[in-house]
Amino acid sequence: MKFLLKGGMVLDPQTGWEKEGDIRIAGGKITELGADLAGRDEDGEELIDVQGKIVAPGFIDLHVHLREPGGEAHETILTGCRAAAAGGFTTIAAMPNTSPCADNEGVLELVKVRAQKAGLVRVLPIGTISKGRAGQEIAEIGSLYRAGAAAVSDDGSCVANSEVMRRALEYTKIFGLPVISHSEDVTLSADGLMHEGAWSTLLGLRGIPAQAEEIMVARDILLAELTGGKLHLAHLSTAGSVALLRYARERGILVTAEATPHHLLLTDEEVRDYSTQTKVNPPLRSKADVEALREAVAEGLISCIATDHAPWSQEEKEQEYSKAPSGIVGLETAIPMVWDTLVVQGKMSPLELIARFTTGPAKVLGLAQGYLAVGQAADLTVIDPHLQKAVQASEFYSKGRNTPVDGRVFQGWPVMTIVGGKIVMREGKVKGDLVNNA
Ligand SMILES: [Zn+2]
Repeated sequence: MKFLLKGGMVLDPQTGWEKEGDIRIAGGKITELGADLAGRDEDGEELIDVQGKIVAPGFIDLHVHLREPGGEAHETILTGCRAAAAGGFTTIAAMPNTSPCADNEGVLELVKVRAQKAGLVRVLPIGTISKGRAGQEIAEIGSLYRAGAAAVSDDGSCVANSEVMRRALEYTKIFGLPVISHSEDVTLSADGLMHEGAWSTLLGLRGIPAQAEEIMVARDILLAELTGGKLHLAHLSTAGSVALLRYARERGILVTAEATPHHLLLTDEEVRDYSTQTKVNPPLRSKADVEALREAVAEGLISCIATDHAPWSQEEKEQEYSKAPSGIVGLETAIPMVWDTLVVQGKMSPLELIARFTTGPAKVLGLAQGYLAVGQAADLTVIDPHLQKAVQASEFYSKGRNTPVDGRVFQGWPVMTIVGGKIVMREGKVKGDLVNNA
């Protein structure tokens, strides 16, 4: 495939590039970047007009649950990759809480091979912190690293044992791997169902206090200081966590963090109709928490936006609130949700928002990605910043339709995803016939 993306607004947070330009792509790579490049249709080059669109480095989502192996009723690696391509992502990191979990090379290999076969987006498997995700004994992190783990995490569960977490932060330093923490004191969150506040009282649902998250965020920051390990905090949801992150940053402790689109947009008031689509862990928080998260993302204290894409089949979510599993699908709604909330509302510039999906996560995972350069693999995300459209969950490529924003209109949608010089999504349609031939 050879093509020329013509007339787009090219935005690259790495270089601060923010001007109209053309990008030539051939042999899977960016071969030319500049203004007014002449087309070469004699070479069989396709000219793609992207005037009025934003052309950015390929978006990276470092927190995705693909469910395979073991949870194929909810998602498979193929359907998850389709959802990622549809949502404008070129690279996703797969969380290891599958069944069996990715505490061994075999599962990591399976994820890599099936992702390769899907041939759509790049999938980076994450290994577990502990054996069997039981939190008792550290996994064979060296062999996970050699099998291609991009990070380690027991996400879905918190490593309650501080000694195990300390060892993980120490041991991963040898490999430069980040430890992604799901920070939750489960003795405090207990069987809570939503954020503890005025709404939980009104609705009569047991609450999860903000402190259930903050206690573990504080502990993990202190352990990062003790060990010098590379700590990444998943799905921060409270103003208190933001304050702790600020404290860590001021002390020079190595810690990064992410926020999800749903925590940046929605508050606990969403639960008022008892729709299980609003049930998520950590829960949707108060207005003040949402404001603090938005500010932290805008200033870059939180350097990544990650979806925590957590698909569930309809039957699972159709149970009563107390029984339904926690989780929201995010791959196909992430860009419009945050573009509308943060850019259209004037809280961030397009360039800053793009950084949270590119240079931010690339830095956490140590990837030579997330920027535009000649000779670089052609991973690109094209966004139409003016396109207004309603979310249609029934049309998702993901098997999961569990989203609380179904039917809501957002402005700013991805319209093209290019991975390694191949167009894997165009105008919202994912290429179904793209078998891996890279
Ligand atoms: Zn989690």
